[in-house]
Amino acid sequence: MTEEALVQPTKGMGADANTYAKLRLNLNESPFPPLPSVVREIAQELDGLNRYPPFHPRMAQDCLAEWLHLDASNVITGSGSVGVALQVLETIRPSRVVYCSPTFEGYPILADMVAAEKYPVPLDSVGMQDLNALADCAGLKDTVVVICNPHNPTGTFLPPSEILSFLEHLPECVSVLIDEAYIEFSDKALRCDVNDLLSRHERVVVLRTFSKAYGLAGMRIGYGIANPSFGDRIQARALPFGFSMIAQTAMKASISNEAELEARIENLRAERQALQKDLRKLGRRVLESQTNFLWLPWSDGGADWVEPLESHGVLAKVYPDQGVRLSIGSKLENNIVRLTGEN
Ligand code: PMP
Repeated sequence: MTEEALVQPTKGMGADANTYAKLRLNLNESPFPPLPSVVREIAQELDGLNRYPPFHPRMAQDCLAEWLHLDASNVITGSGSVGVALQVLETIRPSRVVYCSPTFEGYPILADMVAAEKYPVPLDSVGMQDLNALADCAGLKDTVVVICNPHNPTGTFLPPSEILSFLEHLPECVSVLIDEAYIEFSDKALRCDVNDLLSRHERVVVLRTFSKAYGLAGMRIGYGIANPSFGDRIQARALPFGFSMIAQTAMKASISNEAELEARIENLRAERQALQKDLRKLGRRVLESQTNFLWLPWSDGGADWVEPLESHGVLAKVYPDQGVRLSIGSKLENNIVRLTGEN
């Protein structure tokens, strides 16, 4: 039996038939289904679905705060980290949203939703987010600057010292979103202490999610970390009854099974390192990644990879003329990717 034949179709809620039949490595999802213990806990909530969840997601804030060793006043909850980002933009009502491009496609969509000017800034010559260029474009009083760290789609990581210095020199009136959707995949030694970030600038929000490393993309559990006075204003934008009991239960169960989840993250990190090495051996240039995906620059191994990926039924995210981004999947999925790399 070929490796392709062994692959189970992805149970993508809402995925079209085409997506269903392919290897879904285009959305940086976890290849693992939720932990059995998380599924069991969720199942116990199902017969309470005729009831509303709490009006305010206070319980979720408390639970996150305890886990993060922060105060509940530092924690914002939302429908995925995109939900939190929208709450931030609705609070600020910025005239401009500045971000490095290419990047997560959600940022321009969110900017449109609050009728802000979208202000993409190119990556620097080595494919990193250009903090100087971002600072230069943050002149307007009500600008929101977005830093994605680790960066989607390149997987690169900005060192804490650079971000802290960037924040220190930024005018008080500018707000900053630091999107850490993939932070759990990065080396612990590289990460910035969240308290350091908050101490450098009043209007900083660090965005995190249970969608990636914790494998709950379908649950829509995002959170933000901010200074209390700023955070309160953003949390006031959370929808009443907006955090379902199922989501709260899944979140709590995940937190209490952190060791098992950490083992999965470690597995994905190891798979990332091995796949990166093997693709390089095949002569493809792969950027050093701190995430659960790899980036191959277009002109250096990316462009001529699109066809083999497609013909093996692998869905990757293609950025024409820029690069190809591919999620790290299960061992089996990654082996199929290796086959495509040989073409
Ligand atoms: N931020 C980044 C950088 C992402 O890549 C994504 C999803 N691909 C998100 C946020 C959205 O995450 P969530 O599911 O928490 O809304």
